[in-house]
Amino acid sequence: MLRIRPVLATVATTALILSGQTGDIAQRLAGRALGPTPMLADLRELCDRIGGRPTGSPACERAIDWAAARLKAAGVDSVTTESFSVPVQWAAVSAEARCVAPEDFAIRLAAAPGTVSTSGTIEAAVVNAGEGTAESFAKLGARARGAIALVSNREMKTFDDLFAEYMHDAPLVEAARKAQAAAVLLTSSRPRGLLYRHPMDLSGMAPVPVAVISREQAARLARLLENSEVRVRLNLTNRTGGPYESRNVVGEIRGRELPDEVVLLGAHLDSWDLGTGAEDNGVNAALVIDVARGIHEIQAKPRRTLRFVLFTGEEQGMWGSAGYVKRHAAELDRHNAAIIFDTGSGRTTGFFLSGREDLRTPLEKALAGIAGLGVGENPADALDGTDNFDFFLSGVPNLVANQDAVPYLPDYHAESDTFDKVNPREAQANAAIASALVWRLADDPERFGRRLARAEVEKLITDTKMDQQMKAFGQWEDWLAGRRGSDK
Ligand SMILES: [Zn+2]
Repeated sequence: MLRIRPVLATVATTALILSGQTGDIAQRLAGRALGPTPMLADLRELCDRIGGRPTGSPACERAIDWAAARLKAAGVDSVTTESFSVPVQWAAVSAEARCVAPEDFAIRLAAAPGTVSTSGTIEAAVVNAGEGTAESFAKLGARARGAIALVSNREMKTFDDLFAEYMHDAPLVEAARKAQAAAVLLTSSRPRGLLYRHPMDLSGMAPVPVAVISREQAARLARLLENSEVRVRLNLTNRTGGPYESRNVVGEIRGRELPDEVVLLGAHLDSWDLGTGAEDNGVNAALVIDVARGIHEIQAKPRRTLRFVLFTGEEQGMWGSAGYVKRHAAELDRHNAAIIFDTGSGRTTGFFLSGREDLRTPLEKALAGIAGLGVGENPADALDGTDNFDFFLSGVPNLVANQDAVPYLPDYHAESDTFDKVNPREAQANAAIASALVWRLADDPERFGRRLARAEVEKLITDTKMDQQMKAFGQWEDWLAGRRGSDK
């Protein structure tokens, strides 16, 4: 998922990375990752043979078994799968829409995750609900009741736009529910007919059926509405239900001196289903596997245990990493770091510190020697939206790769998120950075960072304004009640 502000791409020459003369293991690993590796062949297999893999789907189960097999083949000491619970089930079954008056034409659309089905096929008048705010629904008055509300949407060009789109969801659903609209057709934020999965609720089920419709067709409906009554026939059928189980894949290279201390490298394996989950986030699942492979290949044994985790349930609300944190609660004091990659093949310019200024110096030290890869910009920001979240809430030192978002955005959750979008050179540079970093953190005589107590995490949440994001995404009550994160 991941929603972050854009960063400026920096240009770096990979040749510079081995500028040091030490030829230490971190640099050897980085050098190896930049050469010919099977990483992109793995990704191609995951995307083209398994494809889109929403958590709970047969494709996701295949991806889990595939990833476990690839990690085993990479030569790690052990591989297991660990089950966890996803609280709410949502799967698209079918979505059909047709304008039937004043003209007859089919409408392209994609049901929004976390929303209910229509009650069979409905036919209703369309009303223009503007931006879908409480005010625009209030203006419609009784006309909105039982109608299909057409809602406009700004074209998404930056991460700020994307973030604004998400922040808009809860108030939109609430306004539509209050107005008793039969359904909402949300204009696609991407031009040229592109559709995407836009989750409307990450903690429950929005009570109004919602689908994203082609931007051009939304504009046509809005023009027709200016001087005629418009009627649409709509059927959104989603499979919804209560909790179900999925699995994370966990591989391990045991530490030679401090095997109970853990440095974790993670990425989510699940994806939405319209595309094949290449940039979000197959490329980084392949990266995690390749980092493990590299360490085995050069027969290096780190001081601490390295854990390679492929989470599922991320797109539904980061439930795989939440489950990991719960299952490993007794071990979290010994988790020195959790490092997450989740912005496709965008160039990594540094790591988000999630407010942990105490990690800045040790991080800079760990990244020294691969500065030639253009990595060294480490923002303090804490961002809600990927698998570091429950580690953050649990006080575990965590880092999220700060990646160039520009190439990632147009295909985000869309039909067009396919293998061809991945930049192989940048993906390999990211694998080089990840390899060097996790090696240094696992092998350094000094521990990377300490675990914070709950009171310290509370302060961090306020200081970084994480609370505002958590409230917008419906996670605040879970934190207060102790359902998210694990106390020290
Ligand atoms: Zn993602």
